[in-house]
Amino acid sequence: VCPTGALTIASHMEKVWSALYDPQKTVVAQIAPAVRVSLGEEFGLKPGTPATGKVVGALKKIGFDKVFDTCFAADVTAIEESCEFLERISKNQRLPQFTSCCPAWVKYVELHYPQYKDNISTCRSPQQMFGSLMKGIYAKAMGTDSENIFVVSIMPCTAKKSEAKREEFFKNGIPDVDAVLTTQELARMIREAGVVFDEVEEMPFDMPLGFATGGGVIFGGSKGVATAVMRVIGKEPDFKADKDNPNIKTAEIDYNARKIKVATVSGLGNAKKLLEDLRAGNKYYDLIEVMACSGGCIGGGGQPQPNSNNIRKSRKQGLFGHEKLMQLKSPIENPVIKDLYKDNLGEPGSAKAHAMLHTAYTNRKRINESICFFEGQLNTAKK
Ligand code: SF4
Repeated sequence: VCPTGALTIASHMEKVWSALYDPQKTVVAQIAPAVRVSLGEEFGLKPGTPATGKVVGALKKIGFDKVFDTCFAADVTAIEESCEFLERISKNQRLPQFTSCCPAWVKYVELHYPQYKDNISTCRSPQQMFGSLMKGIYAKAMGTDSENIFVVSIMPCTAKKSEAKREEFFKNGIPDVDAVLTTQELARMIREAGVVFDEVEEMPFDMPLGFATGGGVIFGGSKGVATAVMRVIGKEPDFKADKDNPNIKTAEIDYNARKIKVATVSGLGNAKKLLEDLRAGNKYYDLIEVMACSGGCIGGGGQPQPNSNNIRKSRKQGLFGHEKLMQLKSPIENPVIKDLYKDNLGEPGSAKAHAMLHTAYTNRKRINESICFFEGQLNTAKK
């Protein structure tokens, strides 16, 4: 079950069909890491079977102009997040740093633990980094205006739909990401288009935003984000279950004569326990990866059903097995991203990188309390 109330969130399928039939629009897709090992289940493949080429081929068949990889943006996220982390470590400020790619987790902190909102990495999630880079930089390189680009995300959850609607991810009234489809919704669209998935010819991602390293790919399962961030600083964490709470995985990294403590946790119930331990001073970590769904995005609420423990395990094995075959492991090795910084953003953490790739968070508890107070006043006035 999606931790953010999936049932109340509208489908964007109609919007996507309209864009696909609009000759003025260049419709581009980005595919989240977790989708490639789960979409096939809708068409009879075993859970965890990587079907990236078929997903790209199916999207092309139903009319998408370009199909890119969210893992590319995940590589950028890992680079920006590690830069931010090293700065916080050097100044001993805003630690622990929490990861920010799960919007359900971000909203949870904003609503229930706003005292920790400044601890969340200011990096946008890969979905939002992709949208910002696509419309802000790559639209021009594709010979079109950002207004004519229609960005569709294929994501494992509905929380990504709410994220795309956050006002900070709009420029001049135009969203960076125009529509979000869950894995299940994409399967429905493939069926509606009469595409026989089995017979779809495998196709590669379009370039340049289709190139990713293994670090970007493993964002789709728990431990993946923290691992990718550590790879950027040249370290490979070896996570072990915490002796007091096996739901938390921890690793220690030697870095510049200092021990960096990293933790990963999935499931908001487990995250809450961890926050309470931090608050009570029982635990300390420098970097904490939190994913709201059990096992990370491979277990998202928009993934094919059933979404059992065994199926999540198979998807994770499929994703991490796929990553093992990839030649480049660290996001910092991505040659397209090297060019992106050289030609457009300058250095990781630069002012331009901040403007395009970072964000800020809000104390939603206060907003909620104000709304309740205001509604209370109205009700009293009515009586
Ligand atoms: Fe969505 Fe992934 Fe967060 Fe689940 S863990 S809510 S799938 S971003």
